[in-house]
Amino acid sequence: MPFRGRRRLWASALAIVVALATGLLAPGTAAAATGRGYAVSTAKLSDGRRVVLRWNPCQVITYRVNVSAVPLRRRPAMLAQVRAAVTRLGTASGLRFSFVGTTRTVPRSTTIAGQDAELMIAVTTPSSTDFTIGKGVLGYGGYRYWQWTTTTPSGRRVGGAAIARGWVVLDSAGLGSMRPGFGPGATQGNVILHELAHAIGLDHVDDRRQLLYPTLLPTAPDGYARGDRAGLRVVGRAAGCLSVPSSVVRDLR
Ligand SMILES: [Zn+2]
Repeated sequence: MPFRGRRRLWASALAIVVALATGLLAPGTAAAATGRGYAVSTAKLSDGRRVVLRWNPCQVITYRVNVSAVPLRRRPAMLAQVRAAVTRLGTASGLRFSFVGTTRTVPRSTTIAGQDAELMIAVTTPSSTDFTIGKGVLGYGGYRYWQWTTTTPSGRRVGGAAIARGWVVLDSAGLGSMRPGFGPGATQGNVILHELAHAIGLDHVDDRRQLLYPTLLPTAPDGYARGDRAGLRVVGRAAGCLSVPSSVVRDLR
């Protein structure tokens, strides 16, 4: 596919609220305007604090990949490319990911809560999912999170939140028309890295130098740029462990 100037390639980040084990509904999120080359979403906790939505970096995030919509001869390379992108995400964020196998499941809005890995990545067709891909939108990524309230021995109520499930859907035909591998500009690797960043909590920015700019530009960086990396640290290992109550966690491993 010839690359013709600016094209709308990525849909917005999506953060869907999930019903909790404790029966509460999490409030809406608000993108934090940082001016630092990245943006994250926050949740207001029951104790009044506002926290950045992120995974517990002290858990291992299991993931599965669906490449069944990719032409047979390209499947091994696509799988390897997706796994390499997850490795890059792990290096940049400090989060730990564990590949637990391929799948034929395609993320849909109704399947995220029950999916059998924490993170599901599908290279698929627009008709296979209700997330809007195709017609120039190459991918869509997001997450759902838990929010809870615990009571301390002294009776103080303490709120908390943690991303619980992530998903990425990529348009197989659209991706297949782009340059395979990583590198600057309109590469398959850049699309995958962009969507994966949404699945761990990054939102779009209006800084064209960053990979989280909502439109893939011919001048897109080679993978995560400085602001992207700063954001990945804010939602990553450097932010410290989250203490997720056992009544909330449903460990998939
Ligand atoms: Zn995006």
